[in-house]
Amino acid sequence: MSHGLNVLALCRVTNFETARRILGKNGLHLAAEALATRIVADAPDVQLIGVGRDLIEFQIACPDRAGAGACLQALRHALDALQRDVLPEVRLEFAIGAACASVEERDTLRLLEVAEIALERAGDAGGYEVIDLSLADRAVDRLTLIADLPRAIAAGEMFLHYQPKINVRQQQVSSAEALIRWQHPERGLIMPGDFIAAAEESGLIGPLTLWTLRQVIADQRRLASLGHDIPLFLNISGMLLANAGFIDEVCEIITANASAKLGFEITETAVIRDPESAIRHLQRFADHGVVLAIDDYGAGLSSLAYLKQLPAKELKIDKMFITQLTSSHRDPLIVRSTIDLAHALEMEVTAEGVETPAALALLSVMGCDLVQGYLISRPVPLPALCSYLGEQDQLAETMASRPVFLRSGSSWTRA
Ligand code: C2E
Ligand code: CA
Ligand code: CA
Repeated sequence: MSHGLNVLALCRVTNFETARRILGKNGLHLAAEALATRIVADAPDVQLIGVGRDLIEFQIACPDRAGAGACLQALRHALDALQRDVLPEVRLEFAIGAACASVEERDTLRLLEVAEIALERAGDAGGYEVIDLSLADRAVDRLTLIADLPRAIAAGEMFLHYQPKINVRQQQVSSAEALIRWQHPERGLIMPGDFIAAAEESGLIGPLTLWTLRQVIADQRRLASLGHDIPLFLNISGMLLANAGFIDEVCEIITANASAKLGFEITETAVIRDPESAIRHLQRFADHGVVLAIDDYGAGLSSLAYLKQLPAKELKIDKMFITQLTSSHRDPLIVRSTIDLAHALEMEVTAEGVETPAALALLSVMGCDLVQGYLISRPVPLPALCSYLGEQDQLAETMASRPVFLRSGSSWTRA
């Protein structure tokens, strides 16, 4: 979810003295005003706040942090491009300093103060600098959250939801993935996107993952006792693969619970940092009967040639390639070739983020083995997963209502 950012950008003329000598004090001011007006006329998201002695001040609305950098770059290009029309006599040079904050932030003085600090940092070399207040606020928030994590684990505030993975050909649930959530007494429900990265940085991801492992083992037992003995997967941060103490503890737990069907989803980006020990440790898990999956494939940098060395049975294509599958020209080609390569390496392929019947149909035609996504089920509590497993004929209906796809030229179109 994007809340939108408010950017306050200060553009300072760094060759002010030269420009004033050529244009005169009044002439420079008029030229700067004309330039600023042109910029605002061309860009609907940009508002002019004011033109000072050597400064033009803009306010820009932009969708997110990544967008803020792009906005400023666009602003600098516009300043460069338009001034050739507006004032051919002299070339103004600008340094840009900006502050951005969420649109709810009402303290405009603070925003201005921070933009001035950014401008100072930008220097005279025509650069730009952004300070993101929304990020700073969140960082503080994350720190307090993380300090609270050990207490939360002990107090039973963490819990798991499960999202099924469906075998496309058999039209059956083949396994389910555990996804962690935190029910905070004051803040309410907190999703993993808001605390996993911080848990990784602070070293708390180890204890958190051991808690998850124990919970998943208990849940798998419960499922099996109800007649649904499917493997349950949990997410393991790749960085934990370098931690020998963690590996020993995991092996101890899974040895003591040898009957539990388990899988680990490993984020591939982190695996690559210390490939040798990661491969060794993954092999230990595989020797204990744990099914290994490479998670978020395509989001990182590793190649399948490298992944070939890992004892993984499953490759999960990142949802960034799947959610736009039927509206993009490029994604179907990437997904298709990934499926073929993975099959050549004798891995099963899972597509995550399957949201539409059209995506499901296309994946099925492409030979994708497993699918997971909101179309089939959101992550749900264990009892809901149980009832779902009890009513799998519904699943055949979802899978049957699929349109047919034909391949035409370099893109995929609906027949
Ligand atoms: P992930 O492993 O890639 O998990 C998939 C995420 O996509 C989940 O978000 C899931 O709710 C969401 N999702 C599922 N189906 C769809 C769909 O059709 N469309 C879209 N747009 N999204 C879908 P969630 O639960 O917020 O988890 C986010 C990430 O947090 C996970 O990404 C995983 O990397 C991490 N995570 C979650 N639980 C754990 C855990 O126990 N340990 C570790 N280390 N990481 C975890
Ligand atoms: Ca995962
Ligand atoms: Ca994933």
